Amino acid sequence: MADAKLIDGKAFAMGLRERVAAGVADLVGKGGPKPGLATVLVGADPASQVYVRSKGKLAVELGMASFDRKLPAETTEQELLAVIAELNADPAINGILVQLPLPKHIDTAKVLLAIDPAKDVDGFHPINVGRLGSIAPGAVLDFPVPCTPLGVTMLLQDALGSLAGCNAVVVGRSNLVGRPVAQLLLRLDCTVTITHSRTRDLPALCRQADILVVAIGKTEFVRGDWIKPGAAVIDVGINRIPTTEGKSRLVGDVAFAEAQKVAGHLTPVPGGVGPMTVACLMYNTLQAARRVAGLPYVAV
Ligand code: NDP
Repeated sequence: MADAKLIDGKAFAMGLRERVAAGVADLVGKGGPKPGLATVLVGADPASQVYVRSKGKLAVELGMASFDRKLPAETTEQELLAVIAELNADPAINGILVQLPLPKHIDTAKVLLAIDPAKDVDGFHPINVGRLGSIAPGAVLDFPVPCTPLGVTMLLQDALGSLAGCNAVVVGRSNLVGRPVAQLLLRLDCTVTITHSRTRDLPALCRQADILVVAIGKTEFVRGDWIKPGAAVIDVGINRIPTTEGKSRLVGDVAFAEAQKVAGHLTPVPGGVGPMTVACLMYNTLQAARRVAGLPYVAV
């Protein structure tokens, strides 16, 4: 059997960025609002600073406005909620992204609940979680959807076309990845099984999957002989492991070399799902701005 076809998430994400930039130019050209993304960072965690900076920079590259709010680590919950209220009320801002994790003295759920659901470009607000949980099969996604799961389904649709009737097994049930991926696959008419750390005989369930999405955070946990020949395998995991040269490298949750010999399609790590997350954030911000302008959802 030929090796799996690699799904090039980096290339797809670059194309998506270009389409979002074209969508922004089109919206502004028609007199619509310039989409605005606000990022909120509490504290000075170096990794979070890098993420926030790169998101703001990309927004500007795509023709959007970026508003960065950097708050000291000792910011109180009340002060942060006041900033969120200010951003909610600002018509120049269509998307609000609060960089997680927040310092321990702040209740993350309370902060996410305070974001206007229409500006919740991470798709974490309970209103948007509920919308996704109750969406009709095939219905338009006219509300913000979590970015990584959206990226996963975009890659699958690009690789396979229609997903209707496929057996999809999702490994991991987090609110960030596993659950929303499952909801999106159900919307696309897959038959979905959600698995987790208490699942019995996980390899046997995985072997039934036409589509296998793995998001557990465990280095090369899913082995080649768990994969149905020809299946599409999406590896969401990002694990940093040491190399023999004293450096480190990123690997996924799927044993890549083994999977490559069995799967039909496979995402690499890095360069698979990773680049889709930030591209989908930009996509969500554009869609939020279009909704404010009373324009319908467009697939870009
Ligand atoms: P969480 O730790 O929140 O959830 C992990 C899930 O995996 C849980 O549901 C857990 O089950 C399940 N799990 C853990 N061990 C096993 C096991 N042995 N067998 C079956 N299921 C198991 O992680 P996230 O969902 O936030 O992230 C998962 C991975 O995806 C991480 O590597 C993360 O870095 C990566 N990620 C990548 C992104 C990207 O942009 N590419 C974005 C977000 C995450 P249980 O519920 O029973 O504990």
